[in-house]
Amino acid sequence: MGAGPAGLGYASVAAERGHHVVLYEASSEIGGQFNLAKRIPGKEEFYETIRYFNKMIETHKIDLRLNTRVTTGMLKNEGFDEIVIATGIKPRTPDIEGIDHPKVVRYVDVISGKAEVGQKVAIMGAGGIGFDVAELITHKGKSAALDIDIFAKEWGVDFKNHPRGGVTGVEPVVAKSDREVTLMQRKETPVGRGLGRTTGWTHRLTLARRGVKMINGIDYLRIDDDGLHVLIHNEPETLDVDTIVICAGQEPLRTLYDELKQSEQPVSLIGGAYEALELDAKRAINQACYLAAAV
Ligand SMILES: Cc1cc2nc3c(=O)[nH]c(=O)nc-3n(C[C@H](O)[C@H](O)[C@H](O)COP(=O)(O)OP(=O)(O)OC[C@H]3O[C@@H](n4cnc5c(N)ncnc54)[C@H](O)[C@@H]3O)c2cc1C
Repeated sequence: MGAGPAGLGYASVAAERGHHVVLYEASSEIGGQFNLAKRIPGKEEFYETIRYFNKMIETHKIDLRLNTRVTTGMLKNEGFDEIVIATGIKPRTPDIEGIDHPKVVRYVDVISGKAEVGQKVAIMGAGGIGFDVAELITHKGKSAALDIDIFAKEWGVDFKNHPRGGVTGVEPVVAKSDREVTLMQRKETPVGRGLGRTTGWTHRLTLARRGVKMINGIDYLRIDDDGLHVLIHNEPETLDVDTIVICAGQEPLRTLYDELKQSEQPVSLIGGAYEALELDAKRAINQACYLAAAV
């Protein structure tokens, strides 16, 4: 159940090994959260991951049933030998006064283009998704991941003339954002410390060059017409913002699993539904493939 990376990984390996696999997906397309991730400049490669899994579905004749939100009742008479739950996550909503204020939007709606984002923006939560939202709303023009010349200019490198060390020595060209964006976290550790070791610094540097402010040690007090009221290292402040994007983590979506467990059917749990770790597709796919290799 669920055609995100975990469900797709499981279905592909199990079907390749000769099992008859039915893959249910509540939405109209496969990919799960990769359909959000692929919209972030720099993460276009996830289009290819989805294309790959579409090919696997076709090649291994996986019985894909889109637009089908599974309930326990639906599975009773299907006679499956194994049921694998890969229903993913639900975004966490922090318990803060004014969280229903019209200035507040969810990251899912921002990335999918459903929510309007103003000029002055506060992003609550500086995990991988908070960084991705900041990237998306401060980005201008073509993605550097799709154009090597833009990439070279942004990083001050020269792939053509091979100067010493590959660097031009010219100040990198990065357009400042028209938006005033503040990326915030409760933790006292430096913002972005939890990002990938090899790439985290590029994300921090890119956003800093675009003018994104990063603040740690925040306590959120309330949201109202004046903006977001916080304590910054225990000092009260009001951030006069038009939009507050909630990127406050995720929780596993396990309703179906919990119900099926009661009915004593053979059921396993994988991916974000097993453990929600924000940017963890590799772990989700790995877990799915190992399970499918043992079925
Ligand atoms: C903006 C963004 C950027 C990201 N960037 C990265 C990255 O760079 N690297 C990385 O490793 N990870 C990244 N991730 C995280 C990655 O996408 C997730 O770790 C991964 O998608 C988890 O896979 P999953 O299959 O467990 O869950 P999901 O992708 O959430 O898929 C679950 C699927 O189950 C379906 N479903 C739910 N309930 C039912 C039901 N009852 N019946 C049928 N279907 C159901 C849902 O519609 C969904 O399609 C990113 C996520 C986001 C949002």
